[in-house]
Amino acid sequence: SNKIKNAKLVLLGDAGTGKSSLVLRYVKGQFVEFQESTIGAAFFSQAVAVNDETVKFEIWDTAGQERYHSLAPMYYRGAAAAVIVYDITNLATFARAKKWVQELQAQGSPNTIMALAGNKADLLEARQVSAQEAETYANENGLFFMETSAKTAINVTDIFYETAKRLIQA
Ligand code: GDP
Ligand code: MG
Repeated sequence: SNKIKNAKLVLLGDAGTGKSSLVLRYVKGQFVEFQESTIGAAFFSQAVAVNDETVKFEIWDTAGQERYHSLAPMYYRGAAAAVIVYDITNLATFARAKKWVQELQAQGSPNTIMALAGNKADLLEARQVSAQEAETYANENGLFFMETSAKTAINVTDIFYETAKRLIQA
């Protein structure tokens, strides 16, 4: 059929969890140790083929700081997908991720596909959030879950690909 589907995707989560790094890894295949913090939001586009269809992601990488919170609805409203990111080495970022999920459930579009990314999965020795706990939370709240690493590239393409697959099935 060769259908093309444009899909707005927003990344949400605390500052420092690795949202920009995930996008940089996904779109450019790169990683930098000292990623500059995002001001407001940054935009990227990336096409992904799923079988005979193409999803063109319009990716909004948000800043995450509390002072930008009032801008977030501009990015998640009308979003086909949201990737909510926490840092597996920082329990507070997991709590913040849950807040984002609640906000999306209350204010977002009901059909938004939600993915939960436990990022920095390369830093196992500093882990504060178990994969089991996050998986259980995701299952109970209608998200799909993957641990990712923008540094090693583990599961980065995969989480976007799985999102695209679910968008096409929706
Ligand atoms: P953002 O504020 O959520 O956009 O986070 P950044 O992408 O700016 O990343 C914050 C810091 O964490 C930077 O120093 C990154 O290099 C680092 N970082 C991001 N992802 C990973 C990862 O998967 N593993 C490790 N070890 N560091 C990461
Ligand atoms: Mg950023």
